[in-house]
Amino acid sequence: MSIVAPHWLEPKASHLIGQLRDEQLGHALLIQGPIGVGKHWLADQLSNALACTQWEQTTGSPCGQCQGCQLYQNGTHPDCFYVEPPEAGHHILVDQVRELIAQLMLTPSVSRYRVGILTLAESMTEEAANALLKTLEEPPNDVWLLLVSHSPQNVLPTIRSRCQGVVIAPPAPSLAMNWLQEHHPDGDQKTLELALRMSSGAPLLALEKLTNGLVETADEVLERLHALASGSDIQANLDQTWGDDASTIWPLLAFWVSELARAPHEPSADPRLIDLSNRAKSSDWSSLWSAALNGVSLVGSGRRHDLLMTPWLLDWTSRFKT
Ligand SMILES: [Zn+2]
Repeated sequence: MSIVAPHWLEPKASHLIGQLRDEQLGHALLIQGPIGVGKHWLADQLSNALACTQWEQTTGSPCGQCQGCQLYQNGTHPDCFYVEPPEAGHHILVDQVRELIAQLMLTPSVSRYRVGILTLAESMTEEAANALLKTLEEPPNDVWLLLVSHSPQNVLPTIRSRCQGVVIAPPAPSLAMNWLQEHHPDGDQKTLELALRMSSGAPLLALEKLTNGLVETADEVLERLHALASGSDIQANLDQTWGDDASTIWPLLAFWVSELARAPHEPSADPRLIDLSNRAKSSDWSSLWSAALNGVSLVGSGRRHDLLMTPWLLDWTSRFKT
């Protein structure tokens, strides 16, 4: 797994590896937190420590040199097993869980332990979760299960109660900003701040949005919204791209409406937002925000989104004094 190290999680990783060394670590962990805070990196560190045949002789981190580490880092370790939904948006199926359990019951072949890592654990079907329960109740001594979830409330309570919870929150804003500057050195302060706001402070998600161009698109959307509120022609601004790219644009419209609602209380908000806020006829943005979220919910429904966006943009335009 190639996740750039999220420094803010290093103390937590050391603590958990210390628990492993002291035989205090639960055999089933539920690593939980929002998207983009480093859950997978932490699961990766732990499973690498379990795969390392030398870690007890090191300061607690995987040694990186032994056969276990080498196989792990090549993604070919015979004692580490990964389960995830077969396709995006699908469930983890009972057969996948049964196969995992069968593999975990075998004797480790290289390392001392066998490890199962379940990504998007909340997507297990009830049948799949029930199949996992027995192993969670009485895990063999040489087996670890690492469940990763950004939606732990959707993991069956019987599963949750049998796991040691590892909760990860976004780091402090200054840490998040330092990390983002380190990994996206070309971005100016304003752009990085925007990326973090769009990601609710989750740095890895912010980095993804920066590298896939979403932050730039967000800025363009605000530019157009500002132009519309200043009297620009809607059709000139609603080119085909917006309707065709509805899955990107609707969430950004909702995002900017919520940012606009906050702008009066944030002197450092984008000057375009401050200007819009000063010219707004009302400070009630709830219906416009809901309508954008309704657009989000209709993505994939076959509706023509350019036809849905035109009335939304007319509504937007009507809310400002020109
Ligand atoms: Zn090693």
